[in-house]
Amino acid sequence: MSKIITPPPFLKTAAKAPAAFPSKAGAAKPAEVVKERSMLLQKEMLGDLFHSLTTAKETGRKVVYTFVPGNLSELILAFDMLPVYPEINALQWGMRKKSGQLIRDAEKYGYSEDVCTYVKCDVGMFLNGNIGPTGEKLPPPDLLLLSYTGCFTFLKWFESLQKLYPGVPTAMLHTPYAADGIVTDDMVKYMTRQLEEDVIPKMEQVSGKKFNPEKLAHHLDLAKESEDWIAKLFDLTKQVPSPIDAYFAGVYYIGPINAGFRGAESAVEYYHQLYDEVAARAALGKPPITPEGELEEEKFRLVVEGPPNWTHFREFWKLFYDMGVVVVASSYTKVGGYFDEGFRHEATKPLESLARYCMGCYTNYSLPERINMLEKFIVDYKADGFLINSIKSCNSFSAGQLLIMRELESRLGVPVSFIESDLVDPRYFSYANIKNRLDSFFQMMDQRKRVGGRQPFTRQAPEIASQRVGRASSPDTLLPILQAEGML
Ligand code: SF4
Repeated sequence: MSKIITPPPFLKTAAKAPAAFPSKAGAAKPAEVVKERSMLLQKEMLGDLFHSLTTAKETGRKVVYTFVPGNLSELILAFDMLPVYPEINALQWGMRKKSGQLIRDAEKYGYSEDVCTYVKCDVGMFLNGNIGPTGEKLPPPDLLLLSYTGCFTFLKWFESLQKLYPGVPTAMLHTPYAADGIVTDDMVKYMTRQLEEDVIPKMEQVSGKKFNPEKLAHHLDLAKESEDWIAKLFDLTKQVPSPIDAYFAGVYYIGPINAGFRGAESAVEYYHQLYDEVAARAALGKPPITPEGELEEEKFRLVVEGPPNWTHFREFWKLFYDMGVVVVASSYTKVGGYFDEGFRHEATKPLESLARYCMGCYTNYSLPERINMLEKFIVDYKADGFLINSIKSCNSFSAGQLLIMRELESRLGVPVSFIESDLVDPRYFSYANIKNRLDSFFQMMDQRKRVGGRQPFTRQAPEIASQRVGRASSPDTLLPILQAEGML
């Protein structure tokens, strides 16, 4: 009998999949329940954080509201402040199937249907007493730390928070956009100056503590260790079969670095432990664990672009594992930092490495860079297909996705598909539509394999790839494609 790892708490609270769900070859086997140590560690870490937040007023710890992409975890830890990430609260409300009412409340309050649903979930939470997803009241912010990395919504979101929390100091860290993928020394200086002249002084003022460079260096060293383990962890999914699903389980694994623990000792312990557990599975040639047990067979390997749907997370994942489909790499797990290509925080270059980290987050990538990264994933992770989950309310991810899909299809001849849903608005999850699309896509991959076996895709020579990026980026070729796709 295969063993089932207890699903993370969010999976247990999700509603059951429809009874009519077909069970296909490749589906998981039901089995005995065993808790992995990494799960217990993550539960404890997040529990401690929420407890510290709810008692912040009594303990006198200061609270920073900030964002996941381009987050300054190590600096926040160096000032002994506590982070609140509104995106994390929103997605947790989504997984608990309670985001719909919060969104409707924000719409009644005046937010348009087109506004990012993370924002509306956050505003709805405020309107309902700022009760967090764990049921405990969250403290108001002492500092609004706006790390702006590529998504314009971040600016408007913090404008709203300034109105909801009048008088709270705001620090803004603007990350320049590297359209050609090149980070110059001037860009790094521009960011380090903001840290020195605005962000750090505001953190000193709010925390009442003097900036301690040695403390920051200590947390940067710890961040580097966690990043080493994360890079090694996601490298394991190049193995066939992959020992984990790098998207559906991957979003759970990146939880600690996205919730403020990057740079903490607990994160090093967590990622080391997690790596050991997954490496042990890889050494035995085992396929991923799903919420229903170990997958019987990895039939297809996918690369996925775009965030997952949170309101129907478990039903969504089931559509894949029922068909033996494993996601081996995804862009979404890189929103809180991209460590595969060697970037690490560095204690010897503290502010510079914080700046370079922010500029390297996926939300700050140009379209050609996104295409190159995804092409590399498809080839290196031996994928059989490429899928986009286009999120209605997230322009930052959705703009240009059809172009990405067409370009990858033309470069590699890889089977591609496109589905649509939303982050936390349950009104935009159509189970039947998504299932129909995915069934046709999986059939397409199946036919390709039956005819030619599992033929790996070959990456184009760098010079050809870059010419193609140039072609895809030129307005002459972009405009007709965008018009044909109804994007203009
Ligand atoms: S639009 Fe997308 S990237 Fe921007 S805040 Fe909303 S979910 Fe995040």
